[in-house]
Amino acid sequence: MKRIFITGSNRGLGLGFVRLFLERGDQVFAACRRPAKAEALQELKAKFGGLLTLIECDVTDEASILAAAAEVSKETDALDWVINNAGQGGLETLADVSFKRGLELYAANCIGPIVVARTFRELLKAGSNPLLIQISSRLGSIGERESEDGRWVDGYVYPSTKAALNMMSRQLWKDFTPLGITVVIQSPGWVRTDMGGDAAPLDIETATTSMLKVWEGLGPEDGGRYLSETGDDLPF
Ligand code: NDP
Repeated sequence: MKRIFITGSNRGLGLGFVRLFLERGDQVFAACRRPAKAEALQELKAKFGGLLTLIECDVTDEASILAAAAEVSKETDALDWVINNAGQGGLETLADVSFKRGLELYAANCIGPIVVARTFRELLKAGSNPLLIQISSRLGSIGERESEDGRWVDGYVYPSTKAALNMMSRQLWKDFTPLGITVVIQSPGWVRTDMGGDAAPLDIETATTSMLKVWEGLGPEDGGRYLSETGDDLPF
């Protein structure tokens, strides 16, 4: 049984992970921006009761992140896994790049996950084989984008937020390793969600099951890795 905190859990991959964890008997702290409107999570709460706690958390708001950690601390003094899953998409053309939307994307995809990591550090430190999972994207891989067989997807800000998340997560890895916390970065693959769209090859269950299998096999020696959904190393 693991004690798990996950952001962006009301739909898409986040909701998929919550379902998987609950079916395994894990204790889940499912964070989202509006728990009162998160119908799927409330249905899971009705079914799984005490295993699931809904937590309000907007990852672009530091006060909200602090309040979320305080809520979690009322029920547990340790977390084994923290999953920074919340994110925002959009592949704009050069003409569409704007300060407003660009900075929103950086806040949600890059700064938010780092502030969540900092805020939940003590809870994680007290966990058993604690793991911080940063959900990134293959689109954040500069190496793959520019390789001959890489899949070049046009877009400015979103891919760069994930490349920046990768860079900051490497710094976290350096800072968290002495605390006994393993930090990994992972791409979920291209998945059929609101963000991934209908053309994506993977369904949520396949992607989340594959990633969970990878996490179960991870140890401190895997810290700092940037993984695909099946656990292969991706080039930064
Ligand atoms: P969805 O768009 O389906 O879901 C995004 C989730 O993030 C929602 O729960 C949303 O909540 C939440 N979220 C957005 N902004 C915030 C915020 N400020 N605070 C808290 N929660 C927020 O996306 P996916 O499930 O597909 O994506 C999950 C993760 O996987 C993301 O980090 C994404 O970048 C990554 N990813 C996805 C891929 C795919 O193909 N699907 C490919 C590569 C990476 P709300 O309902 O309130 O908006």
